[in-house]
Amino acid sequence: MSIEQELRKHFPDVQIHAAMDERKILTLTGSCNSWGQLVQIGHKAAKYKGVRNVVNKMTVNGLTIPKKDYTPYRQAGEKLGVVENVDVVIIGAGISGCGIARELSKYDLNVLLVEMSGDVATGATKSNNGNIHPGYAAKPGTLKAKLNVEGNRMYTDWAEQLDFDLQRVGAMGFVTNPWLKPALHAVYSVAKKNGVPAQLIGGKQAAEIEPGLVKNGLADQVKLALWMPTMGLVEPYQVAVALAENAAENGVRFWFDCTVADILRENGKVTGVLTNKGIIKTKYVINCAGIYADEISAMAGDESYTLHPRKGVIAILDKAKKPEYEALCNHVTWEGLKLTIKNMKAETKGGGMCHTPEGNILMGPSAVEVPDKEDKSTDPKSLGYAMGRGDSHIQYGDVIRFFAGSRPADYKEDFIIEMSDVTDGFVNVGAIQSPGLASAPAIAKMVEGILTDHAKAKGEALRKKPDWNPIRKRKPEFRKMSREEQDELIRKNPSYGKIVCRCESITEGEILDAIHSPVPPTSVDGIKRRTRAGMGRCQGGFCQPRVLEILAREQNRSWTDITLKGEGSNILISSNRPLAEEKEEQA
Ligand SMILES: Cc1cc2nc3c(=O)[nH]c(=O)nc-3n(C[C@H](O)[C@H](O)[C@H](O)COP(=O)(O)OP(=O)(O)OC[C@H]3O[C@@H](n4cnc5c(N)ncnc54)[C@H](O)[C@@H]3O)c2cc1C
Repeated sequence: MSIEQELRKHFPDVQIHAAMDERKILTLTGSCNSWGQLVQIGHKAAKYKGVRNVVNKMTVNGLTIPKKDYTPYRQAGEKLGVVENVDVVIIGAGISGCGIARELSKYDLNVLLVEMSGDVATGATKSNNGNIHPGYAAKPGTLKAKLNVEGNRMYTDWAEQLDFDLQRVGAMGFVTNPWLKPALHAVYSVAKKNGVPAQLIGGKQAAEIEPGLVKNGLADQVKLALWMPTMGLVEPYQVAVALAENAAENGVRFWFDCTVADILRENGKVTGVLTNKGIIKTKYVINCAGIYADEISAMAGDESYTLHPRKGVIAILDKAKKPEYEALCNHVTWEGLKLTIKNMKAETKGGGMCHTPEGNILMGPSAVEVPDKEDKSTDPKSLGYAMGRGDSHIQYGDVIRFFAGSRPADYKEDFIIEMSDVTDGFVNVGAIQSPGLASAPAIAKMVEGILTDHAKAKGEALRKKPDWNPIRKRKPEFRKMSREEQDELIRKNPSYGKIVCRCESITEGEILDAIHSPVPPTSVDGIKRRTRAGMGRCQGGFCQPRVLEILAREQNRSWTDITLKGEGSNILISSNRPLAEEKEEQA
């Protein structure tokens, strides 16, 4: 039976056509009854033997699937013509693009990173849990499993060289019901297959490692625990900013508000990218466009996978609510197990409860298949799911913000990192869903390898810069200093004595440091990601006008030009002073 016949048998109420090309890419056309069904069909198709990946062009009866229109960007770029000539264009300033930019900054290459939004870390990289997973959750034998474990290990060097917070808190699963021990053995076996450092330990040892077990009166009840010490926590945007700054200090340039609308090719080779800021000639294109990577790949003539957004909603709690455990702990119960099995069957993976290096508890994420790549809504069902993953001590009143991000999932549910076999010089870094953050250092290394091997094969071996500097130092963080250190800092520079964000104790000095950094932010959210101003209980209610004022002053811009998060999100519409003066005159 052909794949098409098999699929029709499985989904009898649906019109499906399936065509496999010589590259083993299966293209699905036809129409079905719901978005959920469309995703299900894609997953089913991807499981047939010999299918490399699935391009799902099916439609849904009665649903218009939103699609990005690149026409205005294309038209703007065509008018401008050729504006640059470089060696490498990286598309996307998420953790993948910034990691690769930093890796390539070692070489004597002219590298330009283009990003359609106004800043670093505005896609999935800003809306995740910041877990540097040990690697036990990925299916053995997948690229995800390999790069997750490697990436986790490499984070220690990244954190040392780039000076961001990495807390190796470890992960612990434990059971108090002896009947549930096999569940821990099953996870242990996958962890071992993937090469994750893991240990099965008794209750006494578990309580020595995790003081929370004693505090919560569970120490004597633990029958078995699985301990994985390499689990880490980061603030994800902090990592992306650190990578971008180090890359910039080593010569990489960043163009923001720059949307790629086409990939230019000649004789099967990349020759450039067409953007709204003009044509950039280049030898290599690295596609790190997150949820849009499939569309960019198609622009390069390589239509070989479709991404379906899997939205995740996360609740962030006030710091006053303290985590109950130091490690990321999971008390394995029947209810929890049933939910995990249900999620695995549905090819989705929601998360539980964790915390951040700064001490906020995160609840969720949920995992819901949605048709719209731009869907960042926080619907009640997802909120309920996220909040339901904690224990009874968490209340809705503890939440200071809900947010959502989309995982760029393909139908094979694995990363796609390879030089295109259709367009030479075009490298896909696609389907980087979770654990993309944890895998980022290994992804960057892998792409470095693809480029160096390719150049060598052409007899153009890449040369390393003798003066490459891997070190980037963070700027002073007032809230983390002792009283004496704070006094000393204020003596040297009084702007550190002016508190702008009261919730997080962020000073004007820190905001000025961010504004004058190697990759300067231009929006209020850009300042938030770099300094934490606006991340506290009041969510910017107090400090937002001050941040706006400082940004306008330092960047010599009008107040009405300052946006919350880039184009179209201006905070102030116009000055009301002339209006007031006019009224005064009339009076
Ligand atoms: C809710 C949630 C929780 C998660 N939790 C974790 C976790 O705890 N640990 C973990 O390891 N992973 C986690 N992940 C996954 C992780 O966030 C992603 O794998 C990772 O951030 C992907 O980074 P990226 O750089 O590939 O993509 P992105 O961060 O999405 O960056 C892509 C960039 O490309 C830009 N772009 C797109 N199209 C164009 C264009 N045409 N021109 C120019 N620029 C373009 C976008 O604006 C964007 O900035 C989570 C994801 C979600 C959604």
